[in-house]
Amino acid sequence: MTALVPFFRPDIREAEIDEVTSVLRSGWLTTGAVSARFEREFAQAVRARHALAVNSCTAALHLAVHALGLRPGDAVLVPTMTFAATAEVIRYFGAVPVLVDCDFQTGHIDLKAAERLLRGEQQVRAAFRTVVGIIPVHVGGQMMDIDAVRHLADAWRLWVVEDAAHAFPAAWRRAPHLPWRHCGEGTADVSCFSFYANKTITTGEGGMAVTDRADLADRMRLMSLHGLSHDAWTRYSDGGSWDYQIVAPGYKYNLTDIAAAIGVHQLARAEEMRQERERIADEYLRAFAAIDELILPAAPTNCFHAWHLFSVVLDLARLRLTRNEFINELKGRGVVPSVHWRPLHMHPYYRRTFGYEPGDCPQATRRFEGVVSLPLFSAMTPEETARVIDVVCAILTKFRKRRMVQPALRTAVV
Ligand SMILES: *Cc1c(COP(=O)(O)O)cnc(C)c1O
Repeated sequence: MTALVPFFRPDIREAEIDEVTSVLRSGWLTTGAVSARFEREFAQAVRARHALAVNSCTAALHLAVHALGLRPGDAVLVPTMTFAATAEVIRYFGAVPVLVDCDFQTGHIDLKAAERLLRGEQQVRAAFRTVVGIIPVHVGGQMMDIDAVRHLADAWRLWVVEDAAHAFPAAWRRAPHLPWRHCGEGTADVSCFSFYANKTITTGEGGMAVTDRADLADRMRLMSLHGLSHDAWTRYSDGGSWDYQIVAPGYKYNLTDIAAAIGVHQLARAEEMRQERERIADEYLRAFAAIDELILPAAPTNCFHAWHLFSVVLDLARLRLTRNEFINELKGRGVVPSVHWRPLHMHPYYRRTFGYEPGDCPQATRRFEGVVSLPLFSAMTPEETARVIDVVCAILTKFRKRRMVQPALRTAVV
């Protein structure tokens, strides 16, 4: 049997391996010169003033909402269609994530639904003092309308933290005559990126918090290393001092130089890898264009799409199988898919804690029933791409419902 087409395979080259080796030989393994270089180069790449390298995107999100002053009982608008991390960092503070429905086609947070919740026109599942912020997620790497997010945030005096775990490199513009804006280029108060093993660029585990505001950058940096007044790099390097003061009970979120060594080379090839994913996504879009049973991801022209995910939604009314059966068929034919995501309002913790029902976010519930992510990564071979296309087409052909009106039947009726 031919090898499986995995959901993801990291694109690691000799440059990454050599740099890691060189860090290992250097005598300095934790946060140091390489992490500082990674921060500098990442800030340049997204055109942001400040970048803080941390050990996950979850850590970046946590530091961001801490720096913005989140307090117990505050509420934050969080899309229900997201990963665990986006909402759990709100719970760390005893604050309340108000789960917002999504757009069926993109999976992006539905700003109209957010506004209904803010106006009190829709039932909110928990008691809270006041809504203080919003955390949009650029699902799959397609940036959402950040001007619309900012507009809503300004009207209701909310901060914006971007969960940009999928969105590097990505850019957006309102209209062709306006300049591109990179994700992270003032697109939120803080933008949080992920370098988890299967994200668009990886450091194994890692993340970056990016902001134009010096006060937020300083606070996040302080809290990322125990709330110490000097970081370890300054303490042990030649010019540093042994002395430090604990000014707050911080966390331990710094990125190692071993990880940053992978990061600097992934960063250098980020756009090249994005283009490779875009090429594969275009191939999928062409191959599946005529298949009525699939709702394809949009490929809008006002986006540089990071193409972290290629998520399709099955039109279940036209098929004789469920999403889970479709997944089993894919796996049986050697293709490993994934699902992004079971929405938060359908998870036991959020149901139990806040009383959410599937009907609270109907679009997300409906999207979840049919959504599947196909393999998409820059290291995919042409054979693997062709195999995914063949297998998807074969399954849909086999399980498509027969036409409702048969020619013979029509003749009979006439
Ligand atoms: C992966 C992911 C995260 C968390 O990233 P980590 O680096 O693993 O902490 C957060 N949000 C979304 C949308 C993600 O996909």
